[in-house]
Amino acid sequence: MSVLGLSHWFASAKVYFSSFAATEASRRRASVEQSASTVLGRPDASQDACANKCCRRRIKPNAPRALFLEGRPMCSKTCWAQSFEERLQREWTRSFDGASTYAHRVPFGVLLLEQGVITAEQRDAALEAQRVVGSGRIGDWLRQEFGVTEQQIARALGMQWNCPVFDLSQHRSVPSGIPLDVLQEYRVLPLRPSGRGVLYLAYDDRPNAVLRLAVQHMVGRRVEDGLATAASFAEKWDLARDDEQGHRALRLEPGAWEVIQRDVESRTGQADVRIARLERHIWVRVLLTSPNTAPLPTAENAVVRDYLIPVTPWIR
Ligand SMILES: [Zn+2]
Repeated sequence: MSVLGLSHWFASAKVYFSSFAATEASRRRASVEQSASTVLGRPDASQDACANKCCRRRIKPNAPRALFLEGRPMCSKTCWAQSFEERLQREWTRSFDGASTYAHRVPFGVLLLEQGVITAEQRDAALEAQRVVGSGRIGDWLRQEFGVTEQQIARALGMQWNCPVFDLSQHRSVPSGIPLDVLQEYRVLPLRPSGRGVLYLAYDDRPNAVLRLAVQHMVGRRVEDGLATAASFAEKWDLARDDEQGHRALRLEPGAWEVIQRDVESRTGQADVRIARLERHIWVRVLLTSPNTAPLPTAENAVVRDYLIPVTPWIR
């Protein structure tokens, strides 16, 4: 090992040991604090151990419980805060392999060509125009220059992404439980849930699988996504954005999740917290009930508060 390599090894070992010591210290602190903590709330006999994996203290079947993370009970504020921060850190450092998702798609121009909508010359001309100007989607160029219709473009996009194309005249946008800030950031339109309880999400360029899973987790119902023509999307989009009833999220500064901790710790009843990662944000949902209402807060019995934290390099 070279001198340089060795000093590098020492540097990384130091980081490792200091973070290990920090974890140990917080673990000891946690065990001291939790033995002194008071637990509030009503019993839920279905689960009997603290969900903090560093604690796992048995919660007596009849003991009241008040703090939950992803629906799992925590024995104390300390255990809750520790698990909450751990969970945030995990979501924070998760990476998305966006590039490979794109790589396996059949090019949009090829699909239109195969369907006989455009000629090879038209496709090349649109690609050239896009290259020269350096902006604009190829679909827009084909529409402007060669009269390809919005429906033809939406159908080809649907084939490219293997998803349906929604006829938005048949759908109404609805309060979906998704905060307006998420809808705006990710440009997505929630549509009235079907009889089967499925929530549809419509996009005007490509479906977003990360968002679909996040909404599914937060809203607790099955979500399916699809596309819409650009014009019909824009029309509904303006309506949805102007909707005064739109539920907003509180946008936090990066790293300012203490705001959420304070919110949860100052509650008087039970609190459950759910976390989902989006491409550029962490979405945190806090469900708060008034005292003695329910063993576990749900969207039906709780006040819902949403937070958006922009994802930047982990700074703690
Ligand atoms: Zn615990």
